[in-house]
Amino acid sequence: MAKKVTPLMQQYNTIKAKYPDALLLFRVGDFYETFGEDAVKAAGILNITLTARNNGGEDTALAGFPHHSLNTYLPKLVMAGCRVAICDQLEDPKQTKKIVKRGVTELVTPGVALNDDILQSKSNNFLAAIYFGKKGVGVSFLDVSTGEFLTATGNIEYIDKLLQNFNPSEILFSKQKRTLFSETFGDAFNVFYLEDWVFQTDYSLETLTKQFGTKNLKGFGVDHLQEGLIASGAVMHYLAETQHNKLGHITKIARIAEDAYVWMDRFTIRNLELYQSTNQNAVTLLDVIDKTISPMGGRLLKRWMALPLKNVDEITRRHEVVSYLQDNDVVLQKFQNQFKKIGDIERLISKVATGKINPREVIQLKNALEAIVPLKAIAMEAKNDSLRVIGEQLQDCEVLREKIKETITEEAPVNILKGNAIAEGFNKDLDELRSIATGGKEYLDNMLQRETERTGITSLKIASNNVFGYYIEVRNTHKDKVPEEWIRKQTLVSAERYITEELKEYEAKILGAEEKITVLEQEIYAKFISWMLQYISAVQQNSLLIATLDCLASFTQQAKEANYTRPLFDDSFDLDIKEGRHPVIEQQLPPDAPFIANDVFLDRENQQIIMITGPNMSGKSAILRQTALIVLLAQMGSFVPAKAVRMGCVDKIFTRVGASDNISMGESTFMVEMNETASILNNISKRSLVLLDEIGRGTSTYDGISIAWAISEYLHEHPSKAKTLFATHYHEINEMTETFDRIKNYNVSVKELKDDVLFLRKLVPGGSHHSFGIHVAKMAGMPQAVLHRANKILKKLEKMHGSDELSNTMSQLSKEELQLSFFKLDDPLLEELREEILDIDIDTLTPVEALMKLNEIKRML
Ligand code: ADP
Repeated sequence: MAKKVTPLMQQYNTIKAKYPDALLLFRVGDFYETFGEDAVKAAGILNITLTARNNGGEDTALAGFPHHSLNTYLPKLVMAGCRVAICDQLEDPKQTKKIVKRGVTELVTPGVALNDDILQSKSNNFLAAIYFGKKGVGVSFLDVSTGEFLTATGNIEYIDKLLQNFNPSEILFSKQKRTLFSETFGDAFNVFYLEDWVFQTDYSLETLTKQFGTKNLKGFGVDHLQEGLIASGAVMHYLAETQHNKLGHITKIARIAEDAYVWMDRFTIRNLELYQSTNQNAVTLLDVIDKTISPMGGRLLKRWMALPLKNVDEITRRHEVVSYLQDNDVVLQKFQNQFKKIGDIERLISKVATGKINPREVIQLKNALEAIVPLKAIAMEAKNDSLRVIGEQLQDCEVLREKIKETITEEAPVNILKGNAIAEGFNKDLDELRSIATGGKEYLDNMLQRETERTGITSLKIASNNVFGYYIEVRNTHKDKVPEEWIRKQTLVSAERYITEELKEYEAKILGAEEKITVLEQEIYAKFISWMLQYISAVQQNSLLIATLDCLASFTQQAKEANYTRPLFDDSFDLDIKEGRHPVIEQQLPPDAPFIANDVFLDRENQQIIMITGPNMSGKSAILRQTALIVLLAQMGSFVPAKAVRMGCVDKIFTRVGASDNISMGESTFMVEMNETASILNNISKRSLVLLDEIGRGTSTYDGISIAWAISEYLHEHPSKAKTLFATHYHEINEMTETFDRIKNYNVSVKELKDDVLFLRKLVPGGSHHSFGIHVAKMAGMPQAVLHRANKILKKLEKMHGSDELSNTMSQLSKEELQLSFFKLDDPLLEELREEILDIDIDTLTPVEALMKLNEIKRML
């Protein structure tokens, strides 16, 4: 039997075929409907009822929601990773007898979202595109909600780092590069493929110059970034494809200047837990230092953290503002008070461009611009050059503010259709219509009074009905006083009803008034919004300046609250930290356990490499990380958690953390670790800072020692003489100082008590002379007998150090030894313990595994 598809479903199928990857929301009357697989998916995500509709003999799944709930449901779909095509009715159903014309008016994807419920105020929502060129990889980032548009070309490592920095919600690339993409950048991103032809120089140039209304891209300083521009063109193409055509706020594109910022690779960004962390609950550096008030400030601070400066003058200018604000608390407070009133003007002005701003938001924009006026005045009066420049550059936008006040009512509704959005006095027709609609009764009362006086009829009445509309009623007793021009319409038993010219006019007016008001308000509003377009760049400029001020005020606030000091920069290559602290850990310690500050000094002459030894949990990693974080904060322009810091500018920060887990991953983990470390060794410069945490731990002890040794030797002999902190629990490495004069030994001191180890957390000169596993065992509450045995075995092992057949002998020896002493123990628990220990293959055991083993044993006891 041939299937009979209804015309509606035919229309649906045609549209759906154009958007096969999207979930199609199909407007039918007052509902958005989804069909088939889309319905199943939507019902699951939105928790709405799934029903079935008979569609020519076959049941089609169906799920829908009322159209006014779109703002509630759309974000849920997009956040669940869906691409959502919104299909609307393109004509008034009342105006047509055939099936209503429909079409997709917007395709919302994770990377192209304008809805406030999808966007996070303190994070950008970037859409990215990647182009794999012959000479390099191009990348482009666009936040449609703010208009920021950035591009870069570089090698895979650099692009990888940028993806880490900008954390795009969606990445576009050519269909043919699927495998290449996932091999290169992994599978963690939300991706979408475009046709290969989109990625072409000519097409991109055409798309971009059309967007910016320029002949070429020279003015943006990006025209040499061929691959980056191809990626940028692809981004713009995608916007058009997703039906985003009102993009007046995307006015420029900027280069991400690789050479202007401190280089940090993805390991460093992740390892330092700057603004994201592998552990959901972990507190990041951004969480701790972010004292910004405006959403723009929050977003900029994150950017500053991803891209710390290398230009000392620029860094110093930020520090000077922080100093000034620190000394002038009144100014700081005034700034902060104003920020509170400003809100997200960057996204508001973008909404003007995309035509999505609502009347209440226009009022918010006006209030924000008003809040900038006193701010501008304060900044211009400041005795600080940078602040004065910011003050001068802030746009007053007086005409815009005045116009908004004239046009939009202060209590404007969110929805223009609710009415009363346009201010009184702005448009004569509108005022008249309103007075008719609201003042109708008054008008009729006036008329009644007038006519009563004129005719002398005392019992006149004005009313209306469905048949004649408005009429004047005259009781029969006064019939003879009725003026000639009144037209009789109806005769009742005791009265006559008339209409007049005036009543007819009035009626025509009032009947259409409400409808006309709505149309007129919409018209005026749309016209006003397009008039506002000319202010996009002025408001965008204000937004960036406010964001900058907000970040600098945030630095000041944090410096005050957490007792940070101003770092001093000089031309040296030194890094001299006095009483440095870890900004995140220090905030998390209980009040009775103060953070122990430490000095770290590195230079290229005498103390290039510091070997830090110490037991597990003593604080080695904390020292490494705090050193990097202090450098990073300093170069962002922030003050730092230390008593004093003097430093030369750092150009690159490298961190590597040794693989900690499973030796069974064996070779491959080890190779990965070595490859990663090799990439450091190939990129270091005189101004680099290298942090190595337990490198070599992913292999067996003696291999590990050899690797740690070899890397340190390489760093020492390398002409860059890059400053390095190396944390290791291999005390054998301490011997290096005898051969290499710029390597110095330090240890994080511990105090051994009778049954315990006390962490002093103080970094002191000198190496450690024995292994620390036993301390940890003590901490874990190991029984004395076991500890005693462990100590003895350790002594033996230490004696064996250097032998070629070490591992074999070692395991044999320890077995015999263990058997001897445990043999006599006939307690079943100890027996079990014995088995457990005998099973341990010591020469392949990593320290962490040893710890875990101890923990296991402890649980048995
Ligand atoms: P390691 O790298 O030596 O194993 P960590 O650096 O990870 O040790 O430090 C372990 C824990 O000790 C940290 O999580 C922190 O809570 C605490 N800690 C580290 N350094 C200090 C310090 N200087 N003052 C106070 N507590 C610290």
